[in-house]
Amino acid sequence: MNKIELNSLTLKELREYMVSIQEKSFRGEQVFSYFHRNKKVDIENLKVLPENLRKYLLDNIKVNKIDIYKVFDSKIDDTKKYLFLLDDMNIIESVAMEYNHGLTACISTQVGCKMGCSFCASTKEGLIRNLTPAEMVNQIYMMEKDLGKDISNIVLMGSGEPLDNYDNTMKFINIIHDEKGHNISLRNIALSTCGVVPRIYDLANENIPITLSISLHSPFDAERKKIMPIAKKYSIDELMKACRFYSEKTKRRITFEYTLIDNVNDRDVDIKELIKILEGLKCHINLIPLNPIREFNKDRPSRKNIERVQRILSNRGIAVTIRREMGGDISASCGQLRRAVTQGNNKRF
Ligand code: SF4
Repeated sequence: MNKIELNSLTLKELREYMVSIQEKSFRGEQVFSYFHRNKKVDIENLKVLPENLRKYLLDNIKVNKIDIYKVFDSKIDDTKKYLFLLDDMNIIESVAMEYNHGLTACISTQVGCKMGCSFCASTKEGLIRNLTPAEMVNQIYMMEKDLGKDISNIVLMGSGEPLDNYDNTMKFINIIHDEKGHNISLRNIALSTCGVVPRIYDLANENIPITLSISLHSPFDAERKKIMPIAKKYSIDELMKACRFYSEKTKRRITFEYTLIDNVNDRDVDIKELIKILEGLKCHINLIPLNPIREFNKDRPSRKNIERVQRILSNRGIAVTIRREMGGDISASCGQLRRAVTQGNNKRF
């Protein structure tokens, strides 16, 4: 029988677990604070618990731990990229970025990804497995320990499609937001999806005001299908309907990630259609100059063209930014670092 992973449980689940083993429910709160406020994982040192309970837990449950495998420190800005080693020897990638508004962590939600976006290195070996909630929170805690300060903003934008690992991602958000734990504001959490339409409706119905970020990359179904297989399943029309539902339900502005690819989606016709599909929607567009990968033989547009796209959108009253390139000297976009290391080592991860 699989053992329960205790630091993957929400506070409510931990209280219920304690009751299920004939303990008082407040023991669940003590364990939760130990994991998620003190960021500790060694139950044997949780001295506030009676010895018999500690022994019972050591025999009957498991606690997830992850280790830092490698850290890459940018020389040009305050970005650090981390490779973490999981207990089954898989490797995942996370990034910590220093902004004016605080320390932001970009974390992974899966090992690999099955979504197949052609510009993304994370998907090249497909999905290996989902991460547990504890593996997600531990990315945050390990970076905080290494950096000696707290993370204030989280983006679920590393390897993996968070809405393809829906239940674990929701538990992660519940745990990291809990005031008895890390207590990160929901408004400081952003979830990025390639557009898993039914799950966007589910997320809207959760009533949690996190920021939804959509990887759009083209306003045309035909073009989007070429670079994002999910577009074969859900049309732009269906995606935009789900986005409007999310925005109305949560009153939150939606971010659209738009990777600019030279002569693919940066033409006047693309930008004109983009303006059309976003009409009346509270949104923000994040333009991301393409970070070329070996398997996707396309270029980023010139700086002049990137700024031209920004100007056109801005003149139409759309909030638009160009993503600042962080840690450009320590490998590039999501998944590339992990892939470089795992391929170099020729290991199964
Ligand atoms: S961009 Fe995101 S959803 Fe698409 S393949 Fe990469 S990790 Fe998966």
